[in-house]
Amino acid sequence: GYRSRAAYKLQQLDDLENVISSGDTVVDLGAAPGGWLQVAAERVGPQGRVIGVDLQRIKDLEDETLADRVETIRGDMTEERTRERVIEAAGGKVDCVLSDMAPNMSGEYSLDQARSLYLARMAFETAVELLDTDGDFLVKVFQGPDVEDLRSDVEEEFQYVRATSPKASRQESSEIYFIGKGRLTTPVRTGD
Ligand code: SAM
Repeated sequence: GYRSRAAYKLQQLDDLENVISSGDTVVDLGAAPGGWLQVAAERVGPQGRVIGVDLQRIKDLEDETLADRVETIRGDMTEERTRERVIEAAGGKVDCVLSDMAPNMSGEYSLDQARSLYLARMAFETAVELLDTDGDFLVKVFQGPDVEDLRSDVEEEFQYVRATSPKASRQESSEIYFIGKGRLTTPVRTGD
């Protein structure tokens, strides 16, 4: 079984826009407890790889075939050194960056929303840094002020952007996912 209900959301989102393909290298940000990791590991197939990152420790996948395709990093994606570790682990071409990162809920919506947007921005910066031409990006953000600015910024870097709320998350209607399809340019990495 899947470790989280979120796994079904990723299935729906990927069925909609096909962000994960066989053989892909996928980076999964905010990956604990690992539902998206399971789905991503299934869908990349035996030639694919998935790098999962979270503040929390992510337990190895029980299924050894899937576990062999997965590497996990414990770290904070708002810190530059974590992003460096992700780049190192990816070791070159990345086809897909996913982010289901969410803040610890304070209960005050405006604060939680601002934190969610900040995490989504971090994911976007990481995606722009890592993705190869044609790579895809999927990010969760809580609806609210400045979300349209994020969407515009994603639109500049990808062929198109789709905004959607998967059925599996309708109860938490404040969540929206942006899917950036087809990264437009190859990143230039400084220091190479
Ligand atoms: N997609 C996951 C799954 O299917 O199991 C569920 C992800 S959960 C909704 C959000 C995750 O984001 C939490 O595990 C949390 O620890 C992580 N997170 C929040 N802030 C983070 C940060 N700054 N860096 C890395 N992970 C973060």
